Amino acid sequence: MIPTWAQLVYLGCAVAFILALKGLAGPRTARAGNLIGAGAAVVAVATPFFYLDLDHVPLILAAVAIGSVIGVVGARRVQMTQMPQMVALFNGVGGGAAALVALVELYEMGPHAEEVGWFTLAATAFTILVGSVSFSGSAVTFAKLQELMTSRPVVFPGLPVVFGLAGIAGIALGVLVVTDPGVSFGIPLALLGLLVGVLLVLPVGGADVPIVISLLNAFTGLTVAAGGYVLGNVVLLVAGTLVGASGTFLTLLMARAMGRSVSNILFGALRGGSTLGAGEASDRPVRSAGPEDVAILLGYAERVIIVPGYGLAVAQAQHTLRELVDVLLTRGARVDYAIHPVAGRMPGHMNVLLAEAQVPYDQLVEMDDINGEFKHTDVVLVVGANDVVNPAAKTTPGAPIYGMPILDVDEARQVVFLKRSMRPGFAGIENELLFDPRTTLLFGDAKDSLAKVLSAVKGL
Ligand code: NDP
Repeated sequence: MIPTWAQLVYLGCAVAFILALKGLAGPRTARAGNLIGAGAAVVAVATPFFYLDLDHVPLILAAVAIGSVIGVVGARRVQMTQMPQMVALFNGVGGGAAALVALVELYEMGPHAEEVGWFTLAATAFTILVGSVSFSGSAVTFAKLQELMTSRPVVFPGLPVVFGLAGIAGIALGVLVVTDPGVSFGIPLALLGLLVGVLLVLPVGGADVPIVISLLNAFTGLTVAAGGYVLGNVVLLVAGTLVGASGTFLTLLMARAMGRSVSNILFGALRGGSTLGAGEASDRPVRSAGPEDVAILLGYAERVIIVPGYGLAVAQAQHTLRELVDVLLTRGARVDYAIHPVAGRMPGHMNVLLAEAQVPYDQLVEMDDINGEFKHTDVVLVVGANDVVNPAAKTTPGAPIYGMPILDVDEARQVVFLKRSMRPGFAGIENELLFDPRTTLLFGDAKDSLAKVLSAVKGL
């Protein structure tokens, strides 16, 4: 039994998790929200040491120390562009840990399992299966994003059949765990979960991978919630439910922002639909210019909109970009940043990047609010973005991004792209806007190009 004081501490932690999520919803309060959540997690992890008669305390403390060191070092070293795979890794070990805890519970139930009740046993089976799916699925997404394997969809003949059979076998083993409790069915269930996780993620390619991370995150949340039910632990139950619900919402919002359905993302390649992945560079002629020409365009424009994208994060050019915008503002131009919901490689990527460079929040304008402005804009400066401004999303049925809402950059008087080559964006398709007579390209790393444009604007 958990003593009343500990239950109250857990309740306090659960409330803190909800406050943390509320804080994370806005850039001004995100840091405080993060600290509240982390503080509550530390309290929740420390509490059992004060009421349980634990065996192996040194081993537990050693595990906590190793995990903390890996977490701190990993979080400090990770590049902003590698954040999705970091989330995948942490999420996967969360699901795996919940599955292991459920297996141990099943083992400990032993001869008393009959007294436990079918619902608790079903929750245990669910935790083992879905936690294992989350672990192996996250490991494969990590490998894809870290380029340890191809990021294109991997499909082999018979995959849908194998996947279907594995799913049915998983349900059958889950039922056996409930009717005949014990690890003899629990361990095969976990192994099958690992297989299902791999099969689920292999056919997902390119730009869809971050969405699957969010979905697996939701799975881990549900697993932890079910684990909390099995252990009778309210803080796990609440925290897991929060993660499950927020992961589900994030998945749906990202899918909607990309104009896709979750089932198309997961099973599109099995049906021969999803072809997202790296494409070929085009050799059609384009209009390119030097930094001085771009400086003249920008320096004498009254209305400028900046479109940041993944390449801004790769080049780490956010500080130079802010300096350039500051100079344009002092020259009397009106300048805003247009933020597409899936620019970059994770939700909020551009907001975080620009906040790091102290760009005032009121200069960041969401897609729906700025789209009407492009037709009155003299120059749009596209810094390392491609898919989020590609008109193929509106004009080319069958294109992988068809249906995705985009920034209507094609309506502006002049468009300047900063990119290194004619390679396409993450969706792997050509962007007709690059060949438009109103478009100018300045080739090079975005940071170098911006520095040159900045010094040329200062010299005007
Ligand atoms: P894209 O991936 O479409 O384009 C990035 C551009 O940056 C490319 O044109 C590339 O061209 C250029 N680039 C890369 N490195 C540099 C550099 N160092 N200097 C200058 N340019 C550089 O990015 P977007 O932000 O437009 O689109 C995001 C994509 O990711 C969309 O397809 C979206 O659906 C997907 N996605 C986003 C998610 C999110 O939550 N944000 C989640 C899932 C998917 P070049 O190589 O020639 O330099």
